[in-house]
Amino acid sequence: MSRWSVLGSGVAGLCVATLLAEQGETLEVIVSDEMPASHWAGGMLAPFCEGESAPERVTALGQHAAGWWSQRVEGVAQQGTLVLASPRDATELTRFARLTRQHQWCNPEELEPDLAGRFARGLFFAGEAHLNPRDALRQLRAALEARGVAFHAGKPSGTLIDCRGIHATDRQPELRAVRGEMLILHSDDLHFSRPIRLLHPRFPCYLVPRASGHFMLGATMVESDDASPISVRAMMELLSAAWTIHPALAEARIVESGTGRRPAYRHNVPEVRYRDGVFSVNGMYRHGFLLAPAMAQHLMQLLSQESHYAN
Ligand SMILES: Cc1cc2nc3c(=O)[nH]c(=O)nc-3n(C[C@H](O)[C@H](O)[C@H](O)COP(=O)(O)OP(=O)(O)OC[C@H]3O[C@@H](n4cnc5c(N)ncnc54)[C@H](O)[C@@H]3O)c2cc1C
Repeated sequence: MSRWSVLGSGVAGLCVATLLAEQGETLEVIVSDEMPASHWAGGMLAPFCEGESAPERVTALGQHAAGWWSQRVEGVAQQGTLVLASPRDATELTRFARLTRQHQWCNPEELEPDLAGRFARGLFFAGEAHLNPRDALRQLRAALEARGVAFHAGKPSGTLIDCRGIHATDRQPELRAVRGEMLILHSDDLHFSRPIRLLHPRFPCYLVPRASGHFMLGATMVESDDASPISVRAMMELLSAAWTIHPALAEARIVESGTGRRPAYRHNVPEVRYRDGVFSVNGMYRHGFLLAPAMAQHLMQLLSQESHYAN
């Protein structure tokens, strides 16, 4: 019998389970066959870039994410983020600089030599980081299993902590899905050390380097609950934007494509809730890796208030 049953093994569920286990609580994680949105994420820990469109709370809470992940998983790259725009969209860079902080103007090729001669200037956010989401989640799960936490698809035995992302609409009908389509590319010709964001008035994109010549190219933002495969249009727009970053990407191989549904509340800010005896951590929107550590910590504070502990 576990005291806590965490529903869901996406990034929210695994961050919550990790903090519970670290506090010596007994818990289990209930899993399902549904692919988590977390599987498709870019893994950017970019609190300052996200400030372009997110409220200050997202930037503030997200600043501790890189440290949290670095203490628990290997492979967190603290290389910052490079933001670019093609010369005809130069005003986009100025606008982005105005809306964000903790950046400096830079010569992109000094940071990424493969960009030599391509962009006159860019914005560098030195304090940002990235990780490979799939590796990071695998490591969190392995660490939990090593502590004796059971992962199973059976009946929960403890107090429920609902981390089912978009699958929680039965209890929280106000959750909505924001469809994100992405690609994994492979190229041995390009070597980038950090996420590159390309600003564009209609088709912004980002490229996140992964191991062995792989890159995650993302991502669309579509107000839709549709989890079907990537559309032709999305693929064409993402690839043509990537080509603007570097024409060598035209020869890259498309090794994977995918679609994830980001769970979002009305204001696109996550929440920890308690209702009818069930805790929930949800609404991660496009910030699951950035904000799940802070939201899990927030839940721990709530649980430490004795009245909520009664089983
Ligand atoms: C293309 C894309 C790119 C992204 N890039 C980034 C990024 O760079 N940085 C960032 O911070 N965020 C990013 N995000 C956002 C991030 O992926 C989401 O915010 C996050 O995955 C949401 O996590 P979650 O744990 O709430 O939900 P999910 O990851 O969807 O996990 C929910 C889990 O609950 C399980 N479940 C469902 N029903 C049940 C049940 N009855 N019992 C048990 N389990 C159940 C599901 O199988 C799933 O495993 C991106 C998202 C997408 C789609």
